[in-house]
Amino acid sequence: MKIIADTHTHTIASTHAYSTAQEMIGAAAEKGLYAIALTDHGYAMPGSPGRWFFESLGAIPPVVGGVRVLKGVEANVINLDGELDMPERVLKRLEWVVASIHGGLIEEEPSFERSTNAYLALAENPYVRVIGHSGTPEFKYDYEKVIPVFKKNGKLVEINNNTFHFRKDSCKNCMEIARVCKATGTPIIINSDAHFSSRVGEFSSALDALREIDFPEELIINSSESRFKAYLSENGISL
Ligand SMILES: [Zn+2]
Ligand SMILES: [Zn+2]
Repeated sequence: MKIIADTHTHTIASTHAYSTAQEMIGAAAEKGLYAIALTDHGYAMPGSPGRWFFESLGAIPPVVGGVRVLKGVEANVINLDGELDMPERVLKRLEWVVASIHGGLIEEEPSFERSTNAYLALAENPYVRVIGHSGTPEFKYDYEKVIPVFKKNGKLVEINNNTFHFRKDSCKNCMEIARVCKATGTPIIINSDAHFSSRVGEFSSALDALREIDFPEELIINSSESRFKAYLSENGISL
């Protein structure tokens, strides 16, 4: 199996990532990826780019060096009602919205119920495509209840390669999420969450973990070019 698209990456625009868009796209080309999504952090993350950055992403052509470049954001969940830090006006113009919880950005004390509530709200948000790295122990939610709603509403559950390196306390939950996705037939997407160009297309830890639970390839949306292109077409995104 070859993962052919990396749909969660950061550039220097996030200010805590270290390669330019050109370098990230070049790395995707070198690794033979069909597509990369540039998903710099939404407004609430300190040092993230502002409105004009996201509204001007059309400056980058749709295909660069043979790589399809999806223009996106990693929107931050800002409260346990599941609200995002990006206005609808901007979200509706972007091709690829990953929505993630980053602990430091939520003031409310988390609970299982409130986290479940937040993820249910993301499941209902029409602009969200990918549920980013949702295995954080602090924000554990009811996987059995929410993941079928992700499936029903066409949200892709992310298995994030960085989790296995930089968020090791989330690994156990991440595997539980993958197991529930397998049991319920919910599509997932494997992403690098690269913050540096050499990490683009690095999926090996996520793939190893999924192999351990015999995760079905047909549920991994970016496990073949035809499967990924079919997803793009079904969702009105140009190839
Ligand atoms: Zn994140
Ligand atoms: Zn990220």
